[in-house]
Amino acid sequence: MSKDIKEFVIVGGGSAGWIAGACLARLLLKTTRGGYKITLVESPEIGIIGVGEATVPSMQDLISFLNIDEADFVRATNATYKLGICFKDWNKIGGEYWHPFGELGPMIENQPLHQHWLQQKIINPQTPDLHNISICSMAARANKFQKPVKNTQSVYEWLSYAYHFDAVKGAEYLRDYGKAKGVTHIEGRVTDVKTDNDGMIEKLKLQDGREITGDFFIDCSGFVGLLIEKTLKSEFDDWTHYLPVDRAIALPTKPNGPLTPYTTSWAREAGWTWRIPLQNRVGNGYVYSSKFASDDEAMATVDKCIAGERIAEPRTIKFKAGRRREPWVKNCLSLGLASGFLEPLESTAIHLVIANIFRFFDHFPKSTNFEVLRKAFNQRGIREIEEIRDFIILHYCVSERKDTDFWRYVTTMDIPDTLGEKLDIYKGQAKILADYYDLFRPMSWISVLAGMEVIPKNSNPIINIVPPEFSINILRDVSAAIADGVAKAPSHESFLKQLTG
Ligand SMILES: Cc1cc2nc3c(=O)[nH]c(=O)nc-3n(C[C@H](O)[C@H](O)[C@H](O)COP(=O)(O)OP(=O)(O)OC[C@H]3O[C@@H](n4cnc5c(N)ncnc54)[C@H](O)[C@@H]3O)c2cc1C
Repeated sequence: MSKDIKEFVIVGGGSAGWIAGACLARLLLKTTRGGYKITLVESPEIGIIGVGEATVPSMQDLISFLNIDEADFVRATNATYKLGICFKDWNKIGGEYWHPFGELGPMIENQPLHQHWLQQKIINPQTPDLHNISICSMAARANKFQKPVKNTQSVYEWLSYAYHFDAVKGAEYLRDYGKAKGVTHIEGRVTDVKTDNDGMIEKLKLQDGREITGDFFIDCSGFVGLLIEKTLKSEFDDWTHYLPVDRAIALPTKPNGPLTPYTTSWAREAGWTWRIPLQNRVGNGYVYSSKFASDDEAMATVDKCIAGERIAEPRTIKFKAGRRREPWVKNCLSLGLASGFLEPLESTAIHLVIANIFRFFDHFPKSTNFEVLRKAFNQRGIREIEEIRDFIILHYCVSERKDTDFWRYVTTMDIPDTLGEKLDIYKGQAKILADYYDLFRPMSWISVLAGMEVIPKNSNPIINIVPPEFSINILRDVSAAIADGVAKAPSHESFLKQLTG
């Protein structure tokens, strides 16, 4: 028999748990009219993963949905701004390209400007790099930062941004927010989960004997998947064959060099290293495949490649790429690491938590009679994570590197059909097909494809209709306007100083 859903119980107090707690509280505890209750239980002795410091622009949507003052968040979490990612050595050693946020210039006759760039690139391989028409790439390269300004006919209209922030401080910030809005916070270790005859979760038992009952449970317990896997047996689709990296060594260092408004990712022998600048330190790490490098070899790469004075011991984290076959099962929704994991190359894990909690609001169940909503939610969520998976695989599979076993594997492995079709259409007809709700829009795909020097043979027939001089002139004017806009923008460091006081 169906019953109304009033009491939500979240297991886990990492980024996923507190994003869920803060969002549910903001929506459901605005007034007491709904009669809702939200409880979050976490185990301080288990702790949180404590990595996850780079985001994509949906982090702004979260901050704005929660009515958080951005300056306060930036101050409290030692955040910096992020305009995109600089990829080094991915196509060949010594090469570099950018995946920026924002737009690549304006739409011209209802077609994106990057199509005009592509037409030029096909005709003339000496065409200046794509990043000349990206305000985010150009500002990032100059260590400048400016906020987007909408509807002004200015180049800042094409700008978008995200944040780098301290993962532990971020979770604490959202915890304080959630508690202030009425989330009941319990510290304790869940040792048993009780289900009813229909397989619905009824209550959680804690190590100290306490019990927590609820109508709907949100599993944010991390890789262990306490409810979704251990109790409800939702299977895990393993994607290691597409994304073989499965370990990371994380290592913070003291600030060194300018405060860059971008993440840097260097391709290495068996994976890649990251550099994420925060106000007070730099987050670094090596993500690698244990199939292609031993832990000692990986540590040697860290010692060789990660510069700066260390402020903590290196920490090794194990993971597996894949997704929960059903992220929502019975009366339990999984979020964060409990729901699946993609390597952090494009900083998408926190985005997926945000996207899934917003999607849950779109499919919000009144009662336990939610089967149609549950199926629709799962279908859309799976579509999104698979699109992100394909985009991440793209960074590897089109590389020209063949210098190690790792690179020989990732450049010859099977790829998903969905990605294969996308690449075929691009290579044959210069088109990048995207669905409206894809996280990575065509401008992201073209940034990686062009950066990896994958240029189609034929240009898009719609663009071919316009004379090449038309495209040349627009590209030149847009690049000049962007260069001028970047010259006038403040440095990232001074923008931050002004914001945080
Ligand atoms: C190397 C690496 C780098 C990453 N970088 C990024 C990045 O740049 N950007 C990004 O968006 N994401 C990144 N991620 C992913 C990101 O860290 C996570 O998605 C995010 O922090 C969410 O974690 P979580 O809350 O799901 O899990 P966790 O932080 O692991 O939290 C799990 C919670 O569950 C609780 N718990 C577990 N078992 C029990 C129990 N029995 N009883 C009670 N409580 C329990 C724990 O105490 C904890 O509070 C990265 C991940 C890795 C591995």
